[in-house]
Amino acid sequence: MKSYLQRARDIITFKVPTPFPVGPVNVYLIEDDLLTLIDAGPKSEEAWAVFKHQLKDAGYVPADIDQVVLTHHHVDHAGLLDYLAQESDIKVLGHWRNEPWISRNPAFFENGRAFFAKLYRAFGIEERFFPYLEKMFDSIYRYGCQTSLDVVLKDGDHLRGMAGWQVIETPGHAQSHIVLYRERDRLLIGGDHLLAHISSNAITEAPYPGEAERPKTLLQYRESLTKLLPLKLSRVLPGHGEEVAHVNPLINRRLHEQDERASAIRAVLKSGPLSGFDICKRLFPSKYERELALVLSETLGHLDLLESMGEVEVTEVNGVYCYSADGRDQKS
Ligand SMILES: [Zn+2]
Repeated sequence: MKSYLQRARDIITFKVPTPFPVGPVNVYLIEDDLLTLIDAGPKSEEAWAVFKHQLKDAGYVPADIDQVVLTHHHVDHAGLLDYLAQESDIKVLGHWRNEPWISRNPAFFENGRAFFAKLYRAFGIEERFFPYLEKMFDSIYRYGCQTSLDVVLKDGDHLRGMAGWQVIETPGHAQSHIVLYRERDRLLIGGDHLLAHISSNAITEAPYPGEAERPKTLLQYRESLTKLLPLKLSRVLPGHGEEVAHVNPLINRRLHEQDERASAIRAVLKSGPLSGFDICKRLFPSKYERELALVLSETLGHLDLLESMGEVEVTEVNGVYCYSADGRDQKS
């Protein structure tokens, strides 16, 4: 019998370092019939050493872990799977949309590159920023894993060996994103869906194979936030930072902040039509050079939101998008 079955079952938090500005990632060890890790960390020697040290303090070695549930595919959450797999016969569980990322599907990555090159052009992004595109993929090769899902999870699934936990699909921050919900104490393990100290970015992604359109990630994200409100969650254990205690007020604040940003874009467009990149520069003058990928996602997401409300029109001229405030605004 595993040692933890003789004592109180628990959720243990580990903080694993990442090389990214977001800081350490929180991973959670759940002691139940199976020993489950929620997310892993990035693939780096430092992350592996810190993880093993904290695991040892909790009374375990990597070989004790039965399964890893991924909240989403990002390398700071999934990369360490490669090291874990060397020491343990772990099962990997997650949404099917993790698979092409965590297995580094070459055709999927090639489509992604082509999609972003086209999007950069359509957004009017200057040529000097194009090498930035390769940097996105470099980080995946350096810190990401190369593995495969053993079990595909979907909305409403109950988790094997983790009594009372249920999967909720929450696309937005990532297309592969899920959260884990425990009804008895209204607790959520939230991945990067809701963070206390920073707003989560609804990251632009290419369409998956067989899908024609890119997902409107901010619209998805808002829907995925809104659907948590009726659960009246008591706490969220997040992927980064401190736990969230006042959940619904934070969800409402995040939605409000998005409305405000959309209003700021609408105000910028009052002076006349602009390219996407021009809007990026106006909204994030000190950030767009350093963090173009995040700035692009933020801007495109809010333009999608305005377009969905009929407040912005987009026209395409020679493959470049031109955004303008809706006619109603211009007449007023
Ligand atoms: Zn993430």
